[in-house]
Amino acid sequence: MSIRIDKSKCTGCGACTRVCPGNLLQIKEGNEGRKCSIRCSQDCWGCCSCLKECRFQALQFFLGADIGGRGAIMTFRKTRGLNEWEVTLPSGERKIVDIDPGSANKY
Ligand code: SF4
Ligand code: SF4
Repeated sequence: MSIRIDKSKCTGCGACTRVCPGNLLQIKEGNEGRKCSIRCSQDCWGCCSCLKECRFQALQFFLGADIGGRGAIMTFRKTRGLNEWEVTLPSGERKIVDIDPGSANKY
């Protein structure tokens, strides 16, 4: 499974459900209120569109052994006009990569 949902942070806003190319995310009404859930985690190909859409850092991308991640967790947030990707290693060590979206696709 690539995507994990931190239900304590999810507001049920639905923004992530509108960008998933596989239509894998849905909002469900439950005891905790409106929360996002993933329909079929095996079908997620890890495009990270949902992470970039969530303003509450409720989505986490799990970097499993299959892609050399050794169980690290990656999160996303926009800050100072930059896209900030934070990777937390199993040891607790954190690494931050800032990308300027204005120049990300320039070659
Ligand atoms: S990572 Fe991509 S495919 Fe997977 S749930 Fe998010 S938007 Fe959908
Ligand atoms: S965008 Fe974030 S807060 Fe909104 S429904 Fe999706 S996971 Fe929850």
